[in-house]
Amino acid sequence: MTSQGTRDRLVKRLREDGIKDEQVLSAMTQVPRHEFVDEALSSRAYENTALPIGQSQTISQPWIVARMTEALLEHGKPGKVLEVGTGSGYQAAILSHLVPAVFTVERIDELLKFARRRFHALRLNNIYARYADGHLGWPSQAPFDGIIVTAAAQTIPQVLLDQLGAGGVLVVPIEKFGNQRLLAVRRNDDGFEETDLGAVVFVPMLSGLS
Ligand code: SAH
Repeated sequence: MTSQGTRDRLVKRLREDGIKDEQVLSAMTQVPRHEFVDEALSSRAYENTALPIGQSQTISQPWIVARMTEALLEHGKPGKVLEVGTGSGYQAAILSHLVPAVFTVERIDELLKFARRRFHALRLNNIYARYADGHLGWPSQAPFDGIIVTAAAQTIPQVLLDQLGAGGVLVVPIEKFGNQRLLAVRRNDDGFEETDLGAVVFVPMLSGLS
């Protein structure tokens, strides 16, 4: 089966598993996930599973990527989005099909280099990638309409809340009592409104540069 065929099959499964946003499903149909993993794993790229990308990190499970993206777009299309944890670059590539500008930060230089190469090869010219600790956000580009954190934080990072514009949404996995919950935090007129989107499993959000 061609990679497009297996990709279509994955998207069909995402739809069956409750992903409803047609734009998100369309982006997942377009982005070649096999380009974001090592060649040795490319035959498994369209399974609905997380895969190792080196440096003890993983490319997230497609369903989670779809769900987080859906949550980010729920209240309208953001203009400017920040991602913390570039990793393979796959989540950023999905976002690049959906929003005008994607800013992404990664604390492991080696991963960032590979991700940048992929963005370049796929001509994803609206992704701006930076070697930085995501706990700091990206102050010079703030405020953002949406922020997505793809590593589990101990608490909701205040700096990221501060960099959220009016009506903006922060999607972030948080450690709670030894488990992780995916939260969507929206900035509205009265402050912040939190929604629990369920249990997840992410690598930890670490401090400093590696
Ligand atoms: N979004 C990625 C998922 C990568 S896994 C993808 O689509 O492939 C999470 C990534 O977050 C790892 O690469 C890890 O190095 C990175 N990370 C963890 N803590 C971070 C921090 N404080 N700042 C930036 N990146 C961080």
